[in-house]
Amino acid sequence: MAEDCIFCGIVAGDIPSRTVYENDDVLAFLDANPLAPGHTLVIPKAHHETLGDLPEDAGAAVFAALHDLAPVVEDAVDADASNVAFNNGEAAGQEVPHVHGHVIPRFEGDGGRPIHAIAGSRPDLSDDELDDIADRIADGA
Ligand code: 5GP
Ligand code: ZN
Repeated sequence: MAEDCIFCGIVAGDIPSRTVYENDDVLAFLDANPLAPGHTLVIPKAHHETLGDLPEDAGAAVFAALHDLAPVVEDAVDADASNVAFNNGEAAGQEVPHVHGHVIPRFEGDGGRPIHAIAGSRPDLSDDELDDIADRIADGA
């Protein structure tokens, strides 16, 4: 648990939340400022800031909960689909520095955009640059 972390406060029960799912490793609750009805956050109970900080077993637990909850959330609000995403680090828009996956229900004609809309303009990359990037990722994986 981290001092001054809102989500650790929710895990501890010090800050109220509309909890929708809980197990030993994971908590899921409604977002306080929802982008759509049913907007749900899934967090590891242990405090870790980004996905890269998260131990593999905690990451697996978070993904398992997202996997189980996404269709349940969609059904609960009669959604047609959902976006499931992480703002992973401050430059990517992460405001609460405790890993959390968003499940955002989507509805036909809701005027929202796909996940492709979140980045800036598309880079113009040469084949050599793409090969180099792929190699560097493969080397680190
Ligand atoms: P981020 O930008 O860090 O990915 O998203 C943080 C999310 O947490 C936001 O969607 C925001 O509405 C939500 N949030 C912030 N504080 C609270 C809180 O105290 N309770 C709940 N339930 N959600 C919160
Ligand atoms: Zn925390």
